[in-house]
Amino acid sequence: MTALNFCQDCGAALQPHMVGGEQRNHAYCRRCRLPRYDHPLVVVTCFVACGQRLLWVRRALPPQRGLWAIPGGYLEGGETLAAGAARELYEEAGIGLPPARLQLYMTGTITFINQVYVGFRASVASEDCAPGPESLACGFYSRDECPWDEVAYPQVNDSIRRAYDDLESGCFGVWQAEMSDAHYTLRAVSQTGPRPG
Ligand SMILES: [Zn+2]
Repeated sequence: MTALNFCQDCGAALQPHMVGGEQRNHAYCRRCRLPRYDHPLVVVTCFVACGQRLLWVRRALPPQRGLWAIPGGYLEGGETLAAGAARELYEEAGIGLPPARLQLYMTGTITFINQVYVGFRASVASEDCAPGPESLACGFYSRDECPWDEVAYPQVNDSIRRAYDDLESGCFGVWQAEMSDAHYTLRAVSQTGPRPG
């Protein structure tokens, strides 16, 4: 059932939406006479590698201020997925890459926070980066260097470990992650080579 309790337009308490005696998985406002949806938000992320190091950013904004994450944020209206990921990368780490340089890397649903995420990957030749207004710091870290005990979203650590695995093997798949309270699965939906020389 939806997490919405009140109508975002009129403020009335919402009811379950009943259609033909069946309860739908969203709410209903009797005053507006409209269904009210709590659709998942789309988060776009960008795994940027320099050699075998990945770019991390230290968050300047709540939630999880002061903790570290892969750069990313909510997709905005009118943006393509890659354009949103490129924008977040620039805002949080000062790295300007054209969206066409970003390759699809990972999709995920995280049902318990009602989010869908789409991760891209890119590689850069230099570790130049600079924190923006949404980040306190940023930097490229190897698997051993990165701040595993200060991560903002440990729920997605498996995805980040997978990115390090792929950097080490040089063989990149596209991954589909499904997370609910009960389960976490990460499976390859394609695998691409060849290994870079
Ligand atoms: Zn209403």
